[in-house]
Amino acid sequence: MGPATLIRGACVITMDRQGDLPSADILIEGDTITEIAPALPSAGHTVIEAGDCIVIPGLVNAHMHTWQTALRGIAANWTLLNYFAKMHAGLALAFDPKDLYIATLVGALNQLNCGTTTLVDWCHNNRTAEHNDAAIAALLRSGIRATFLHGTPKPDAKPGETPFWEKAHPRAELERLIRQFGTEPLLGIGAAVLGPHYSTMEVSLHDFKMARDLGVIASLHQGGGAARTPGGWERLEQEGLLGPHINIVHGHAFTGAQLERFCQLGMSFSVAPENEMTQGHGHPITGRLRDLGRAPSLGVDLESVVSGDMLTQARIALGMQRSLDNVAFREVHGSIPATSTVTTREALSWITLEGARMLGAEDRIGSLAKGKQADLVLIRRTDLNMQPLHDAVSSVVMQASLANIDSVMVAGVWKKRAGKLVDVELPALLDELRESGRKIASALRLAPSS
Ligand SMILES: [Zn+2]
Repeated sequence: MGPATLIRGACVITMDRQGDLPSADILIEGDTITEIAPALPSAGHTVIEAGDCIVIPGLVNAHMHTWQTALRGIAANWTLLNYFAKMHAGLALAFDPKDLYIATLVGALNQLNCGTTTLVDWCHNNRTAEHNDAAIAALLRSGIRATFLHGTPKPDAKPGETPFWEKAHPRAELERLIRQFGTEPLLGIGAAVLGPHYSTMEVSLHDFKMARDLGVIASLHQGGGAARTPGGWERLEQEGLLGPHINIVHGHAFTGAQLERFCQLGMSFSVAPENEMTQGHGHPITGRLRDLGRAPSLGVDLESVVSGDMLTQARIALGMQRSLDNVAFREVHGSIPATSTVTTREALSWITLEGARMLGAEDRIGSLAKGKQADLVLIRRTDLNMQPLHDAVSSVVMQASLANIDSVMVAGVWKKRAGKLVDVELPALLDELRESGRKIASALRLAPSS
């Protein structure tokens, strides 16, 4: 282990019991935070002067299909129906393993650049083992903390073929990935399953039993139209297959009673606010969860539609929920509420603590505290758009952007310093990404651009 790192004199937002510290030092030894306090001794440590920075916990992007990085913007004017037809039954078919590799690598590097230290990569364009290996190799090379959720492709069935919703999750391949990559320190493996909304009862039962047997997270989409298996959730609960390891993405179509029951069962919810609003899912369910005493984690979902920046997602989810609450209040009381219904601190928790909870990793990540992993972000507080600083949490959520993300550390290792990714040769990677994007786009005869 090299010398310890001391980040000195920063405004620290811990999102932990210690609260906010206007000027404190953070001591990092190996991959772990060993102390947070004002004026720690610095002798023998590598000192990072951070008086011009706010330090926040590394952000958690709880839901992203990183394989679509080379298709940035291509689906920005598509609804969910266009997206199913053109992406899953169209462009997705053109992906070779090397397309998955470069998209996942550049996508993960962009996450680091934007302050995300944990990425949940929901990978469902992986028709061969080589596709999975390529995506995982890219996550490992990027150095981000990641959970690879192993999914399945969704092409249109050719005549005589079994449609994707009648296919059980390929358990043997998931088991191989767990065997092969299960000990990687920064990588988790889980299942991205179809669930009752997108598959038959038999498939759902198989997939949920598989997740329970293997002890992994099972994440699934819920949205975009009627469920293929009405009553499926009730059956899964009867079979004892629901619990905190089940993660629902979107979740708009659930009844109030279902949502309440799922919260009681400890299931987690990931909202992709900007994409849900854009593609036609419905209003993000943030407020419905809040009414039940719960909160969502947030995700980017698709860089083929929106940007990869998690601060933007927090701001959009916050603004959307305040708008819904304000309108609802006015309808009842005829006036604007006296105070904001949701605070900026709560919005920050959605992209830190709640992401950690979704992964069952809140004891290690999502906040800054002694004994936790050193995953953190330095945001320059002295920049044009950040001054003057009255309320650090609000400035981070409402004012900060990628332009202010100075440094990013994952497990005690700097991945970004002084505004630049560490040890990354971007031009060659971007050449490769562009080439991949052109090749894939030409499959749908969409105009390529550079
Ligand atoms: Zn998704």
